[in-house]
Amino acid sequence: MTKFTDLNLDPNVMQAIAEAGYEAPTPIQADAIPPALEGRDVLGIAQTGTGKTASFTLPMITRLAHGRARARMPRSLVLAPTRELAAQVAENFDVYAKYTKLTKALLIGGVSFGEQDKLIDRGVDVLIATPGRLLDHFERGKLLLTGVQIMVVDEADRMLDMGFIPDIERIFQLTPFNRQTLFFSATMAPEIERITNTFLHAPARVEVARQATTSETITQKLVQITPPRRDQAAKVKRELLRALIRAEGESCTNAIIFCNRKVDVDIVAKSLKTHGFNAAPIHGDLEQRQRMQTLDDFREGKLQLLIASDVAARGLDIPAVSHVFNYDIPSHAEDYVHRIGRTGRAGRLGTAYSIATPSDDKYLSQIENLVKMQIPRADLPEGFAPSEAAHREPKKYDDREERRGGRGRGRERERRRPEPAAEAVAPVVETPPHREAPPHREERRERHRGRDRDDGPVVIGMGDHVPDFLLRSFRTTKPVEEVPEEVGETSEA
Ligand code: AMP
Repeated sequence: MTKFTDLNLDPNVMQAIAEAGYEAPTPIQADAIPPALEGRDVLGIAQTGTGKTASFTLPMITRLAHGRARARMPRSLVLAPTRELAAQVAENFDVYAKYTKLTKALLIGGVSFGEQDKLIDRGVDVLIATPGRLLDHFERGKLLLTGVQIMVVDEADRMLDMGFIPDIERIFQLTPFNRQTLFFSATMAPEIERITNTFLHAPARVEVARQATTSETITQKLVQITPPRRDQAAKVKRELLRALIRAEGESCTNAIIFCNRKVDVDIVAKSLKTHGFNAAPIHGDLEQRQRMQTLDDFREGKLQLLIASDVAARGLDIPAVSHVFNYDIPSHAEDYVHRIGRTGRAGRLGTAYSIATPSDDKYLSQIENLVKMQIPRADLPEGFAPSEAAHREPKKYDDREERRGGRGRGRERERRRPEPAAEAVAPVVETPPHREAPPHREERRERHRGRDRDDGPVVIGMGDHVPDFLLRSFRTTKPVEEVPEEVGETSEA
């Protein structure tokens, strides 16, 4: 078995690893670090949880140990698809580089351009960024990428899902041809294969076993329910979710509850809170500070139930949870494996409940084909029956009424929020309740590129169906793009 001492890492890095308590490199580290230290390109096929962040961060720090950064010319670049992932890489970097003098900057949305510009102006060794924000800085002339010696692309398949591949290609073209590229993806979709063939030079291909099977330490249970009315499916599912959590009692120390759509993440979180559970949502529309706070609370055990969408939860380094609840059956079978893999980690036991209604049959059989087993069916919790209200026509979302078991008047805020039926086919126009400021440019761009895939049928404005000519900018006396929407975000620019 490979030991860290076999790997030729910088002594300062070795000290940091020892302090982190790592005893031996993980398989992806053992395989990726040697070629990365030689300066070779690496194509890593691995998921979060395999130790892949250290597999590129440790050799990067070692290789950058000598040399100095010049103003506006970072020496290395790490691209991550979401703010959280970028922030996570930055945290890892801080841990592993604590005994070096290397500097870093984190370029993500939700942080003022001014602060970030100052750091870049001083010169940084490592620049960690989301693609949109990086290009925003570049376009503002604040950044030169011609000094990049090492470029990392993390979670490339997620980048593809989010429509970032054109940005990635552009960024590749802005960096020197002879840079070293470390490229990571959980899967190799044809488009990812194309990018790696175009931009990587004879890469060392390093692969850790793909998670197409579910761990034996996870007890899986499928609870099937036929709502009395199709348009009350969401209500019944919320009632069932509460009953399941209660039935688990103290064994449910902490749990992630997955929903397919952001709008349901909010509704489920709000509903659980109203019913006295310690719950909070996490998704892309929440303010950065709020998302970080929620995650910290969850990691520290102050928050018991985290309600998440796949996009928000993907790649987040969250310690083992006792339970995973699939409030919705995921429409991508692989997401089922990722979701339930949040529990039962490192040999510990975990429980994964999935709630299914008859409309999930198609997805369920795709999941069972993928995991090559039938998910064991579980009975409804003892005494559970859909409330009386679930038999009636839904009008609006009102948690208090669920508590009372009848329909109430609802507060004004709730009155404006229609209950989205789980099987809704028509697009629902929804304004996220916590949107306090207009989205900044990066978010808008991400949205147009399909970032909000987890939103299902929810469409904001014209969604992706805006006719192309409407999006084209043209000259008037004032450039169209300078109309005030950016104000909140670029005030320091
Ligand atoms: P990642 O796949 O990079 O998100 O890493 C998942 C988790 O594994 C993180 O919490 C790391 O701190 C941890 N980790 C990374 N490398 C090692 C190692 N060699 N030994 C033990 N834990 C590790």
